[in-house]
Order: sequence, then structure tokens, then C-alpha cells
Amino acid sequence: MVQKMRRNKQKLSAEECEALLKQNTSGVLALVDNDGSPYAVPLSYVYSQNKLYFHSAAEGHKIAAIQACEKASFCVIDQDQVVPQEYTTYYRSVIAFGTVRISTDEQESEAAMRLLALKYYPQDSEEHRIHTIEASKSAYEVLVFTIERMSGKQARELIKGKR
Ligand SMILES: Cc1cc2nc3c(=O)[nH]c(=O)nc-3n(C[C@H](O)[C@H](O)[C@H](O)COP(=O)(O)OP(=O)(O)OC[C@H]3O[C@@H](n4cnc5c(N)ncnc54)[C@H](O)[C@@H]3O)c2cc1C
Repeated sequence: MVQKMRRNKQKLSAEECEALLKQNTSGVLALVDNDGSPYAVPLSYVYSQNKLYFHSAAEGHKIAAIQACEKASFCVIDQDQVVPQEYTTYYRSVIAFGTVRISTDEQESEAAMRLLALKYYPQDSEEHRIHTIEASKSAYEVLVFTIERMSGKQARELIKGKR
């Protein structure tokens, strides 16, 4: 279902959505499991060229759900500033919609692990980074989320020029 945003002025541009995905370090992956129940699980991720990459243990609820249904969405909250005196929250978030699969391509998995390592520990030495990726290879799967569309929204109060 493609639902248009009702408050169009609050909509973020594609560039803003992309920047927000690059800046943040976690989001919630929403899946549908084999009995049709929703399962939303928080994960670290890296964004690159219209794809999101995750690493995961090879078994568990999330893997079973991905095997049952490839459709997914991923939500990242960029800002959650509660303003009590206004009974509101100055928020900014993005939701990506698409499909997710378990990578079966070794080169793709290694490249994704490298992107994750560079994002989360950029100060690491190249030697240690390679060693860590190599050592954890058999313990993890790489999940690849292909983004079909994205929407981003912010609180009225955060619209540039308004504050
Ligand atoms: C900020 C953040 C970043 C994370 N990054 C990663 C990551 O990069 N890779 C990764 O694999 N995991 C990450 N996790 C942990 C992740 O949320 C899951 O716990 C983990 O991936 C196991 O998922 P699963 O579906 O295989 O769980 P299973 O062990 O199969 O889950 C069984 C049940 O446990 C419960 N459960 C599982 N996880 C959670 C949870 N986080 N909170 C509450 N209940 C839960 C659910 O009821 C689920 O049905 C992260 C968590 C947080 C909060």
C-alpha cells in the first residue's frame, strides 16, 4: 500500500532521508512472520547506494520471518525531543519500504561487513578490521534490504525557517 503523506510540508526530501540514514546508528526492522504476525526488531545497519545492510545470527525469529516473507520496512528515528510545555515532540524520522533477503554472495557479504565495520569503528586499523571480519564470518549472516521507496517526516516546529 502506498499512502500519501497528509502533512506535505513536513515531508523530508529524498536527499534528507538519505542523509538521515547515513547519520544514524540504529533503526527498527519490521517483518511479517510465517503466521502473518508482525515482528519489529531493533538493529544496527549501514546504508549504501539504496540498500541497507545488517548482520545477524544465522537463526532466530528475524531469520525465520525473512524466510517467510521478503517484504519489510525499516524505521530510523533521527530526533525525539520531548517538549513538555507544548505537549509535543520535535521529531524527525524516515521509513524505508522494500524487500530483505539473506545474502548468499560471499563478496557481497564481505563488502557489507566492511561497510558496517567502517561505520561503527572507523578508527580501527585496517589489519584488525580485516581480521575481525574474517574471524566472525562463519557466525553471521548478512541481510540485504533493497529500498523501493522512502518517506521522511519532521515535526512542524523543525521545518526550516519556522524556528
Ligand atoms: C540498538 C540495537 C542494535 C542492535 N543491533 C543488532 C545487530 O546489528 N545485529 C543483530 O543481530 N542484532 C542486533 N540487536 C539485537 C536485536 O534487536 C535482536 O535481539 C537480535 O538480532 C536477535 O533477533 P532474533 O529475531 O533472532 O531474536 P530471537 O532470539 O529469535 O528472539 C526471540 C524473541 O525474543 C524477543 N526479542 C528479540 N530481540 C529483542 C529485542 N531487541 N528487544 C526485545 N525483545 C526481543 C522477541 O520476542 C523475539 O520473538 C540490536 C539491538 C538494539 C537495541
